[in-house]
Amino acid sequence: MAVLLVTNDDGVHAAGLAALAEALDPLGEVWVLAPEREQSACGHALTLHRPLRPHQVGERRFSVNGTPSDCVNLGVLGFLPERPALIASGINHGSNLGDDVTYSGTVSAAMEGTLLGVPSLAVSLMDGGEVATAARVARLIAMRVLVEGLPAKTLLNVNVPAGAPRGLRFARLGHRVYSEKIVEQVDPRGRTHYWLGAGPPEWEALDDTDMGAVHEGFVAITPLHLDLTNHRALAMMGDWSSALDGQWRRESTRPAARPAPKRRGRR
Ligand code: MN
Repeated sequence: MAVLLVTNDDGVHAAGLAALAEALDPLGEVWVLAPEREQSACGHALTLHRPLRPHQVGERRFSVNGTPSDCVNLGVLGFLPERPALIASGINHGSNLGDDVTYSGTVSAAMEGTLLGVPSLAVSLMDGGEVATAARVARLIAMRVLVEGLPAKTLLNVNVPAGAPRGLRFARLGHRVYSEKIVEQVDPRGRTHYWLGAGPPEWEALDDTDMGAVHEGFVAITPLHLDLTNHRALAMMGDWSSALDGQWRRESTRPAARPAPKRRGRR
């Protein structure tokens, strides 16, 4: 029976994690390795300066004093009885759409799995949505991934809308527009401080995007590629390359500045 790894960034006690583990149970031997406390918006962080200690909280269930990406590393690189056939991260409490995937611990866990060569998906649920619905969606997609695999360096980012989904739709990432990026306040001692992430999110045109799909009541599935190279820019910047390279070489082959004359006669 294939080993399946389930993790999240909301912590080992989150309802979404339990629902995801239960939903995948018919597909393999599910192991849970999840952060001991909430790590939302921790991004792709790894813990390198202190030991990681898995703590057993149930049958094949462990809390870890680290991040989602730590959990994936433990799981793939030797803690589990065998290499997992699939990694599922979530079900996150709240959406992970568009540009927000870069901050998300949920999505980062799937990125880490992908970098380690394991087919991975991240599942997030819009506020007010039903965990049980998202779990059914996750199982459906996981079954397909187990059969078909995923393209190289590619993970699936899944967002489930609130309410009964009208269907499943593949979509590109949307782009978030930050209108009130920071809120400035003054504390009782007269010092200024700032809040990030305040204000409602605003989005650019929704056509074909993940945000548009969930907005219309569909499950949004976005294949994310971990080759962050902009290949078009790489091709376009050929003239930058020769210019910068030439400039570097010219500056590097200039005669070295003359050494300072030796001081004489000072005693
Ligand atoms: Mn979270």
